[in-house]
Amino acid sequence: MTFRITYSVLDADLSELHRQFDAALMDVRGGLGGEYPSWVGGTALRSGDLLESRNPAAPEEVLGRFHRTPVAEVDRAVRGARSAQRVWGATHWAERVRILRRAADLLSERRLVLAARMTLEVGKSRLESLGDVEESADLLRYYASQLEEAQGFARPMARLSPHEDTRSVLRPYGVFAVISPFNFPLALAAGMSAGALLGGNAVILKPSEETPWCAEGLHQALVDAGLPDGVFQVLHGEGETLGAALVRHPGIDGVTFTGSRAVGADIQQRLLAGRPRPCLLELGGKNPAIVCRDADLEAAVDGCYRSAFGLSGQKCSALSRIYVHEDLRADFLARLARKARETAVGDPSLASVYMGPVINAAAVRRFEQAVTEARREGVIHAGGEQLRIGGAQAGGHFVAPTVVELPHGHRLMREELFLPFVGVTGFRSLEQAVEQANDCEYGLTAGIFSQRPEDVEFFMDQAEAGVLYANRRTGATTGAWPGVQPFCGWKASGSTGKGGCGPYYVAQFMREQSQTRM
Ligand code: GLU
Repeated sequence: MTFRITYSVLDADLSELHRQFDAALMDVRGGLGGEYPSWVGGTALRSGDLLESRNPAAPEEVLGRFHRTPVAEVDRAVRGARSAQRVWGATHWAERVRILRRAADLLSERRLVLAARMTLEVGKSRLESLGDVEESADLLRYYASQLEEAQGFARPMARLSPHEDTRSVLRPYGVFAVISPFNFPLALAAGMSAGALLGGNAVILKPSEETPWCAEGLHQALVDAGLPDGVFQVLHGEGETLGAALVRHPGIDGVTFTGSRAVGADIQQRLLAGRPRPCLLELGGKNPAIVCRDADLEAAVDGCYRSAFGLSGQKCSALSRIYVHEDLRADFLARLARKARETAVGDPSLASVYMGPVINAAAVRRFEQAVTEARREGVIHAGGEQLRIGGAQAGGHFVAPTVVELPHGHRLMREELFLPFVGVTGFRSLEQAVEQANDCEYGLTAGIFSQRPEDVEFFMDQAEAGVLYANRRTGATTGAWPGVQPFCGWKASGSTGKGGCGPYYVAQFMREQSQTRM
């Protein structure tokens, strides 16, 4: 079966979708405050040490309580995973595909409830939450199709003699630790886990401590799809303690992590200290867009706006640097700033809201610090303040979408902020703009707006980033979809150069074996 995209939000009747979302939200709100275990070695673990998941739009609201996995239990998790993996790794690949496809269908069926939970837990707008759930299901289907197309990754090789028969076979490594971030709490946990599982590995997932509820939804779908006990475990707790202990355990055969560059570097260090093991890292970005003199200005403003402020700028792919031709600079800035000021910021569970809160109080502090610097060394054209939204959302982590003119090379134009904060600077020649766009340690996504094909070709040829977009009104640097845009970080943005959503993903979770028979 080949892969076909099933992103139903694109052609849905939106008013009907909102009605269904309202019903799901009511349902979900009726079940707040439940207690959930960690899943260790195939059984529920209730440690009594509870991690609270709270709504960033209304931090008083406790969504659920999750039993932390004590660090002392990591060893039991790894041993359980090793024994479950022996059976899973020997299971025919077609059976692994069948189970993962079933899990994808369950995620699709449950998409409204899972999206409603996500909106409460992460502060994503409704459509973004639905997109995240549907992306999860498509990732599972897309990766399953990779195994199918390669017939389990076994292929005949050339013969040295007629009596000899050699095959190259990709086999599992064993146990993968999957460490997933808060911003795509289902899609990234599901995608990384599915890559490892389809490859025949057992998975120990340590989801972000901000989003345990979304991880629970993934666990439920995999179990209901028939994944054997112990093959997929979920350990709730903090990264610095639990995540670090997991990565340090000698029984882990590989790690895949999506998140900040600092944590990624730390994981790599820990792994290097042991035996050689795969370490697949998808890290941050400081993603640029170039707006040329003859760009379609409306499209450029729209695309830049969506990529800078969608999900409150908390995407690795978010747009955070704009290079605009000097002749357009004033006009472009005025339009982008107007759009930013008009943004509907607030409770993301409302249909009318475009931008919800940032994830926590620490993100608000980072924002305040960036704004202080921007006031001193740049010109703020929109935003620059924390927003106090009343009612049930009083105390929510809301900040205003912020547009700042800054010189190229400024700290705020170099370091990832993970906030709705975009820097803008002017340029005179495309060569200079591309050079400045490339003058950055990161290299994840980049975009250009120009109606001249030769500008676009020059950019495609010269840009140092793994994901490039030209003239994309729906997102200058964001919006990669499984099977459509491979999501591969170059430079400091990733370790492998072969990304999620791309055709080489699953094979990275397997090691090659050459088998010769006489
Ligand atoms: N797939 C998302 C996008 O292209 C980004 C994923 C991420 O930020 O980690 O917008």
